[in-house]
Formats: sequence, C-alpha cells, structure tokens
Amino acid sequence: MIKVRVAQCWDDGVFTDIRLTEILKKHKAKATFNLCSGLTSDESVPIRWMGADEINPPTVNTFYSGRVCKDRMMEVYGDFEVASHCDLHENAKTTDPNAFLESAMKSRRFLEDFFQKDCRGFAWPFGTYTDETAKLLTDAGFAYGRTTENTDDVLSYTDPLKLASNCHFMNRLFWKKYQLAKETCGVFYFWGHSYEMADFDPYWKNFEAMIAYISNDPEAEWINVVDIVK
Ligand SMILES: [Zn+2]
Repeated sequence: MIKVRVAQCWDDGVFTDIRLTEILKKHKAKATFNLCSGLTSDESVPIRWMGADEINPPTVNTFYSGRVCKDRMMEVYGDFEVASHCDLHENAKTTDPNAFLESAMKSRRFLEDFFQKDCRGFAWPFGTYTDETAKLLTDAGFAYGRTTENTDDVLSYTDPLKLASNCHFMNRLFWKKYQLAKETCGVFYFWGHSYEMADFDPYWKNFEAMIAYISNDPEAEWINVVDIVK
C-alpha cells in the first residue's frame, strides 16, 4: 500500500546534473529541474577544480559546477519536468517586482519552447520571495513557487507560491523526515543542487542508494513537484 508520494527538485542546471539524471533514470525516479534560461549557452561547461585565486558563482568552495547547455539539455532533462528559476537567477527581494515577473516568464517561455511542454513550476532563486512577487506569479499562472523553507507537512501551505519542502537532500534527518511523512501527511519532498556532491564518489554512491531505496520501497511512489499542488 502506498503511504508516501515522493517528489524531488534540483536547481541551477549544473553540469553534475548529467551524472544525477543517469542515476534517476536507472532507478525510474521522477524529478523536476529548476533552470535559468539566461545561463544556458550553446555548449556545456564541464566541472573542474579551480585554483584558489579564481572566483566564479556556482561553486562549492573551489569546485566549479559547470553548466548543462543547449547541446545536451534535451538528452539530460527531456525525461523529467523542468521549471523556471528566472532568467538570470534574480533575487525577488532586490529586483523590481515587474522585472522579476518578466524574468520568471522569460525562463518559462524558453523552457516551454525548448521542451515543447507546459512549464508552470517555479523555484525562487536564493529561496527569497515577497508577497508582491508571489501574487504577480500567481496571476501569471505559475502553479507553485518552491522556497528553501522546511516543513514536516508539505501539504500545509496556504499559498502554493510559498511552497516549502521537507528538507535538503543532505539533511541529516532525511530518513527520519521520510518516515514521519509516511505516518502523517503522505508527501515527502526534498531538493538540492547536484554540485553539492562535486566529484566525490562516496556522496554519489550514497545518493544512488537513497534513490534506489525509495524506488524499491513498496510504500512509496514518485510524483512530480507540480502534483503536490494539484
Ligand atoms: Zn538557484
């Protein structure tokens, strides 16, 4: 009997999503990828370890997480859901609300055109939002907006544009929260950035074991994030 429906999402369209999606496909796990249209270029940018003197945005210390760009986007994300993460990862707290809406829509239109499917999901860059931007995104037809807040009851939201998840995928209470979700609301939702595992094989092995466990759990089934708010 199904006791928990499980959703996951991953941010920023980084090169390590290639390794991540191979694992997800192998274990038939659903996932949503939150992508920025303005950060895609024609050719993918691989991962590398940077010199300590280099600076670059999407990093874990000196790990440069690269990008999945247009040349591989269909191959990597075509079997999954994609959602807008703004055009250039703008911050809702420091961007003019109408400019923020335009950025969110620009990425959505890009993704809908590229993948030829509806794309009504959204994830707030930096996890930040304002009441005004949430309202604008609702009016524009976005189905939900994922924050970086945590909750033990994913279904307790009052505004789907302020959707919380149970936890980050590296949360040390991950399995406790998973078990609690089974016993209570019946939905478990986690998120992360694949670059947080960098090129450390033990992290990836552990992650694959997590995904395999959920896929093999007779009491669990994978859903897409948008299914949470349906
Ligand atoms: Zn992000």
